[in-house]
Amino acid sequence: HTSTRYHLTDLDMMRTIYMPRTPFSHKGTYGHALLIAGSRGKMGAAVLSAKACIRVGAGLLSCHIPDCGYDIMQISEPCAMCITDELPDHSAHFHEQADARYKTIGIGPGLGTATATASSLEKLLATYKRPMVIDADALNILSVYPSLLYQVPAGSILTPHPKEFERLFGPSANDVERLELLSKQAVRLQLYILLKGRYTAIGCPDGAVYFNATGNPGMATGGSGDVLTGILTGLLAQDYSPKAAVLLGAWIHGYAGDLAAAHLSQEAMSAADIISNLGSAFMECF
Ligand code: AMP
Ligand code: MG
Repeated sequence: HTSTRYHLTDLDMMRTIYMPRTPFSHKGTYGHALLIAGSRGKMGAAVLSAKACIRVGAGLLSCHIPDCGYDIMQISEPCAMCITDELPDHSAHFHEQADARYKTIGIGPGLGTATATASSLEKLLATYKRPMVIDADALNILSVYPSLLYQVPAGSILTPHPKEFERLFGPSANDVERLELLSKQAVRLQLYILLKGRYTAIGCPDGAVYFNATGNPGMATGGSGDVLTGILTGLLAQDYSPKAAVLLGAWIHGYAGDLAAAHLSQEAMSAADIISNLGSAFMECF
């Protein structure tokens, strides 16, 4: 028995969601995103997110990264601006507070779960009130401090893979129960919860669940999820509603992954190839 409404997304739906750029626009039109990501040894996650955010059309991107990742990010993604903590300690991250000029924030890829990072996330959630994207280690911090979940701005997007989902919301006996739990938690918290997998399932604040059918096992490789976080952050920056961003983001991420696999094979493709194929994905879909 279930009252959950299930839907499958498709290209026609994406064409109603997609917003073409307008001739008299400028970079301010497409939003200034803040990405909080990376730690020593995991700067790749931050770089992949940043590149994906820019490749979906964000107007401006600032990356809050640890000091040890400054050169890495500046060289890897010259289109992004960088902010670092003054603290030389690798474990302490983003003690400066994000101000309201950022249209949205993406947080988590490669972030680490140090205590200092957890208290910075707590401060961030106390002050920043617009929908944001929360992934990876930021989700892991929320599962250690579950009361913080209630501080997450309404309409934000959580992007757990099945293990992160279980850490956050507990185990389920089977797939059907897990989908019902997904829907229930999305309603309870008034968040979009994107549960990753072969058919990524997106739980919405109204209880509906959308399945995304694009994507392939070539994407079962390190960094694929970090690319998704960048995509979602870039779409929110451009004023897509959270629902539009999460449905279109999941679609275009999988579609670009399918193009990468078609060119390279599922084996040879890497998460970076998902980013390289975002351009072709936009051109084929819209
Ligand atoms: P993460 O585990 O955070 O790196 O995220 C992996 C990303 O790749 C998610 O967006 C998944 O939906 C996608 N992915 C992983 N494996 C598959 C698969 N077998 N089929 C389709 N998509 C996949
Ligand atoms: Mg991940």
